[in-house]
Amino acid sequence: MLRSLHMKLVMIMVLLILSLMMVVGAFLINSVTAFYLEDFYSQMGEVFQEPSLYHDLTTPSGEEENGAEQLALVLEAYAGELGVDNRNRKLYILDGNGVCRVSPDGEEVQLEYTENLLFAMTTGLETNEVGDESNLAADYMDVAVPIHRGGQEYIIYILDNKATSNDLTNQMLVLIIESLVFGLIISILLSFLLSKTMITPIQSLTEGAMRVAERDFSRKIEVSSQDEIGVLTDTFNDMAGQLQDTLRQVENERNKLDTLFLHMTDGVVAFSRAGRVIHSNPAAARMLRRRIGEETTYEELFGNTAALEQVLSAPDHLEGDLPVRDRYLELLMAPFDRGREGGGALVVIHDVTEQRKNEEMRREFVANVSHELRTPLTNIRSYAETLTDNAGDLPPDMEKKFLGVILNESDRMTHIVQDLLTLSRFDSERGELKLTRFSFEDAVQDMYNAVYMEAQKHSHALTLELEPGMPEILADRERILQVMMNIVSNSIKYTPDGGHIDIYAGRKQNRVWMIVNDDGIGIPEEDRPRIFERFYRVDKARSRQSGGTGLGLSIAKEIVERHQGRITLLRKEGPGLAIRLELNIEGPGDGNE
Ligand code: ADP
Repeated sequence: MLRSLHMKLVMIMVLLILSLMMVVGAFLINSVTAFYLEDFYSQMGEVFQEPSLYHDLTTPSGEEENGAEQLALVLEAYAGELGVDNRNRKLYILDGNGVCRVSPDGEEVQLEYTENLLFAMTTGLETNEVGDESNLAADYMDVAVPIHRGGQEYIIYILDNKATSNDLTNQMLVLIIESLVFGLIISILLSFLLSKTMITPIQSLTEGAMRVAERDFSRKIEVSSQDEIGVLTDTFNDMAGQLQDTLRQVENERNKLDTLFLHMTDGVVAFSRAGRVIHSNPAAARMLRRRIGEETTYEELFGNTAALEQVLSAPDHLEGDLPVRDRYLELLMAPFDRGREGGGALVVIHDVTEQRKNEEMRREFVANVSHELRTPLTNIRSYAETLTDNAGDLPPDMEKKFLGVILNESDRMTHIVQDLLTLSRFDSERGELKLTRFSFEDAVQDMYNAVYMEAQKHSHALTLELEPGMPEILADRERILQVMMNIVSNSIKYTPDGGHIDIYAGRKQNRVWMIVNDDGIGIPEEDRPRIFERFYRVDKARSRQSGGTGLGLSIAKEIVERHQGRITLLRKEGPGLAIRLELNIEGPGDGNE
């Protein structure tokens, strides 16, 4: 392109010079020829209008035999004025019939009857008019002067072969061609020079534009002149600067979005209109439990929830569910850049498994609470009804027994309500711990003493083994005692009479621990993970019979977790259950948890 611009410039210069030289040449040559012609006729006019010459020409000296020669003699004296040199300009004397009487070299010549000669021969001899019509196109100049001398008619005919004028014209032509060649060389050189000054800045502008197109903004284009190209370069530099800023902003935004996508907990997958994955974040792959690559299609991932066409034509967005193994995913599917070429569909994935589980647990919990309260209430009501209906008719010991049941059941209800209140306090974060420093060893010992009688009642062998030198711990003493009692009471309850219950306690690094091991009925494998759930009991009848609410262990877990401790079921050989309780020595805030 630059090359062609360069060539164009050279061509323009050459054409300009050529046309200029042609016009000037034509004009000059024409002017020179016209000047010669005019000069010739004015010279002739001047000479022939001289009265003395006219007189000499028309007046014979006496009887003349050869008037033509006389005329030639007269005119010889004027040869210089007439410019007759007998080479290029010749003089002829003709008689009235047009026969040449005198010629420059004396030979007989047959002259060509030119317009002027004919005019002189025909009209001129009668009217005395000279044949001096100029003809620019002819290759000669001539003048024919009619003369009456001594009753004879003559025509003085001067014929110029235009050699002088032609020589000059030729010389001028050579000069013009020489100057044309010279001019062409200069114009080509000039056009090279001009193209260098004009094209070099355009070239660097083009290179700069190509660099910008390749996103290289490192160098500005140098502004070398203040002309239009200079202004254009300056404007281009400004434009490139603005483009760089805009690109940087876009890049920034993209980086922000990428980081957001990367760290977002919700999964995001974007699809093209053809259903191919354009973008996806790690959360999406994690939730869908599969690799998502460029070759993955919408159909494979979400085809079962809604068709891509449905999503693309949705007025706002579509919602759907997608169970993946044991998880529930909620999908929000929306079209983006609708109607445009680059548009597609965006799917946001939200993991609602916990939410669903919580809802389920809440429903189950409410059902359990109602059930647990209804049973004692039904009992109370039926015993109270029996007492009312048979007032005074029942034997006193029976009445007493009934009233005892009513009291027992209402105690149970109170117990349940108290446990529920404790749990709800923990749930609403109001169950604050009263932290104090106390001896863990003493606490275990106190708990042992408290349950000892109960164990005795069931003929259990209750042992206690304490590591020496246990430290004081920072915890809520009352609640930790409640947890310990719950664990040991369970062992007493769920171990057939005459069993063995062993309590161990000790310290490990920055923690203290207590293990309660019994050889009772134990917990079946499938129930182990659920044992800390609210109202969960392996054997409902047995638990209720022994006054259990099914809330003890869940409260214990809440309390221990509040202390950032741990309560776990241990794996053990043989019958029974082993539970381990672990607490930080420095209390809940100890970061070494
Ligand atoms: P409950 O008031 O019914 O005792 P818990 O929450 O304390 O409620 O215990 C939940 C269930 O765990 C009990 O109903 C019982 O089935 C089981 N369980 C707890 N401790 C033991 C144990 N030492 N041996 C066998 N089963 C136990």
